[in-house]
Amino acid sequence: MNVFVKTPTPAFLNDILDVVRVFEGRPVEASHDQAAYAIVHTEETNAEKRTVQVQLAENEHAYAFQKEGAVSSDPLVDKRLHKRLLKQCVFEVCLARYQVSPPWGSLTGIRPTRLMYMAMDDGMTIEEAEAFLRSDFHVSEEKSSLLSEIIRTQAKIPPQAQGEIDLYCGIPFCVSRCAYCSFLSGVVGDGKLLAPYVDALLCEIQAVTRLLHDRNLRVRAFYMGGGTPTSLPAPMLSRVLDALAPLTDGAREKTCEAGRPDTIDREKLRLLSAHGIGRISVNPQTMHDETLSLIGRRHTVQDTLRAFALAREEGFRDINMDLIAGLPGENETMFERSCEEIERLSPESLTVHTLAIKHASLLHLWEAKLPDGDMAARMVRRGREAAAAMGMKPYYLYRQKYMAGNLENTAYALPGCESLYNIGMMEETADVVAVGAGAISKRVNTKTGKILRAPNVSDIGEYISRVPEMTKRKEALLDAEI
Ligand code: SF4
Repeated sequence: MNVFVKTPTPAFLNDILDVVRVFEGRPVEASHDQAAYAIVHTEETNAEKRTVQVQLAENEHAYAFQKEGAVSSDPLVDKRLHKRLLKQCVFEVCLARYQVSPPWGSLTGIRPTRLMYMAMDDGMTIEEAEAFLRSDFHVSEEKSSLLSEIIRTQAKIPPQAQGEIDLYCGIPFCVSRCAYCSFLSGVVGDGKLLAPYVDALLCEIQAVTRLLHDRNLRVRAFYMGGGTPTSLPAPMLSRVLDALAPLTDGAREKTCEAGRPDTIDREKLRLLSAHGIGRISVNPQTMHDETLSLIGRRHTVQDTLRAFALAREEGFRDINMDLIAGLPGENETMFERSCEEIERLSPESLTVHTLAIKHASLLHLWEAKLPDGDMAARMVRRGREAAAAMGMKPYYLYRQKYMAGNLENTAYALPGCESLYNIGMMEETADVVAVGAGAISKRVNTKTGKILRAPNVSDIGEYISRVPEMTKRKEALLDAEI
């Protein structure tokens, strides 16, 4: 869909469109051609305040909204206040035009917890921050209370200590590609890239071991993700884990995203166990074979049940499972059945995702089969109930563009089974050194909010040939002032 936008601050054009996307639930572009309507933004600013006016004009209808806000002498803070005020005004005219109230109101960012933390940093209590989100950003009571619950859980989890760092190792291969996948992930295919990739990874791991050792840094939480790390054949997985051992021995938490149940076997589980990895994911996404086939996952429900039972047999007592609400062809009864199956298995953590479709082609392909936003919302609520029934509490949440019903992904865990690594990543509160194609190392100044990043190249072939350069990037990051 196209919208004509006139604004004196073109730098905020995407922020304006982001608000429209919340209401449309599909890609929206700025264009003169075939525009559904026009949004015109004007404003006046003086030393004390800024006044923003937004008008939405569509044929003979026009909706206008004006709001005053504070200005700041700090350019970064002022930019944030400016953007927030503009988005609130765009939200109000869209609210009038679309006549629906999105659950997250005018919030379009990935991390809604951040706004709540900022309000609390400004001196509000958690209850006041929750009320602020409802009154100023139209966040629903259901979602603002979910944020409060998450923040209360996170308050009990110790942050990264001085001298600690988290370690990420990326294995960007999967046995087949899920149709909705937005991750960097190659398909294993004929397997030709696996051995050179593992060789390159081992070189990078060796270099990182030296970098951390020289700086007296020890790994707090280790996370092996991807892709699907267990899509590597056992001997290769073993080489990678052996190489990582000097770094991960003594880590407080070790996770492997085993993910695809069809890649899990006893030999790999024993390898993980032997390397002290106690936390794994076995991800069903749904407990319906017809949906699994539609979304391009090459496993069955039976594979999930078998992999879960095997993991239990092998002594894994910290298993995460993922479910996706809003999958094509699914209705509430089907989602209910998936929840019941998960409750029966009783994992230690459950992540309830909402389907996000980033590729317009998929949307066209599936449009008729997708549950509507209200149904997706009821599914997400059912997922929350399932987690509560198993004794879990929500502990992090993030949002993506084009999620069904403008909802969210929420992770739930039994007390004590919350993933330190995931909290650090989602809240951007932890330093991370990351190895593998597309992996991003990061340093965070939690006092100023400043973040420095050193990304590895994403292309697997490029990565294999440029490992020394990736190491240099990390070295510069670790030695940078922050
Ligand atoms: S398992 Fe995950 S990383 Fe692999 S294709 Fe599916 S969504 Fe992408």
